[in-house]
Amino acid sequence: MISPALLERVACPVCLESTGCPQCSAPAGHAACAEDYVRRVRCACGGPDKVRLQVRGETLSCSCCGASYALRRHEGYADLGPVRPVGEVTQYADHEFQERLGTTDAEPVLSARVKADMMRRMLAPGAGEVVLDLGCGAGKLALYAGRDGARAAGVDVAPFFLARAAAGVDLVRGDLRRLPFRKGAFPSAYSLDVLEHLDGPGVLDVLVEARRTVGRGGRLFVYTHAMESSALARFQRAVNRLARRLGQAGLIDHEREALRKSDHVNAIRSHEHFEALCAEAGLEVAERRYYNVVFKAVVEDLGLRLYEHARRRKPRRTNATGGRGGPESPPRSRASANSLRASAKAPGPLALWAARALTWVLKLDVVLFGGVRTGPFFGLLRPRGGVQEGPQA
Ligand SMILES: [Zn+2]
Ligand SMILES: [Zn+2]
Ligand SMILES: [Zn+2]
Repeated sequence: MISPALLERVACPVCLESTGCPQCSAPAGHAACAEDYVRRVRCACGGPDKVRLQVRGETLSCSCCGASYALRRHEGYADLGPVRPVGEVTQYADHEFQERLGTTDAEPVLSARVKADMMRRMLAPGAGEVVLDLGCGAGKLALYAGRDGARAAGVDVAPFFLARAAAGVDLVRGDLRRLPFRKGAFPSAYSLDVLEHLDGPGVLDVLVEARRTVGRGGRLFVYTHAMESSALARFQRAVNRLARRLGQAGLIDHEREALRKSDHVNAIRSHEHFEALCAEAGLEVAERRYYNVVFKAVVEDLGLRLYEHARRRKPRRTNATGGRGGPESPPRSRASANSLRASAKAPGPLALWAARALTWVLKLDVVLFGGVRTGPFFGLLRPRGGVQEGPQA
């Protein structure tokens, strides 16, 4: 959706105001945005604010660069992607790819839920607070994050949103490397499974843009991974090797996991490297927990996929008739001829119950091994030395 509050928060993705500190202020006019954007936006003071947009009917227009951006009210999002591409675009922007991922609007379970709950615990959004989901994808997590009084807004480079998200969550299409938001627009934000899809300069761009968006007193939660591993990860790799072999033998569906990881760039070499990138962006890592996936490897990567595979091979009784036999056969208008259609169905109540129970088992990975240094991690970032001044008006 596009709420009036969202329209107050958005800005031109590529235009900076002329006022800033002595280092980053510039003469009025678009030339300073076009030529000196990167230096000015990274200024130690937090950089200039971005230029507000004016609503003109169904478009938002920028008085600085003259661009106009579409308000796609029927589709439920504001289209604020930069007119000119910023860098490589991930394959998540491809519609067919999204269909194959088969996201549903059911609550997140298993490792997705472990990550979502770590976000809620570390970011701890207050009641009434609007949290920004950076790289929200179809909007599944934004729907979940909007529980308990907090609300979420989402931004993603691809505009393929779940119907429920488009109806109930403020959504923006935009490039995370040029976030179309005013300074301090969202005092808290999170990004899960996103940074690994960007190259080094891209990660730095996202951190810089996120710092401006959360403002001086803001908080930013990330889940991503550095290219290092603990001794525990050897166990996970052995399980994954087994899963891969079973996949090759046709005993397990390895495709979706492979799909998700297929455009990982993995630019973050180590935790020290990540801290250095944060420092360059004016952020610091205030808290970090590691994610050693011991229980996940056995339960989700192996056990559940074997189970799913066994289940899929059984002939489905309700298939041919399309009867209203069970909770598993909701009519899905958008389901098209597509090989992963079955897995895109929302889980039934029994499956959901079982998945919730298994999620608790998976949480042991964080409880027991959260202090053991390894690649994947949950991080809470804060702007450096900015807390005392509080968020901007
Ligand atoms: Zn400055
Ligand atoms: Zn401009
Ligand atoms: Zn502009």
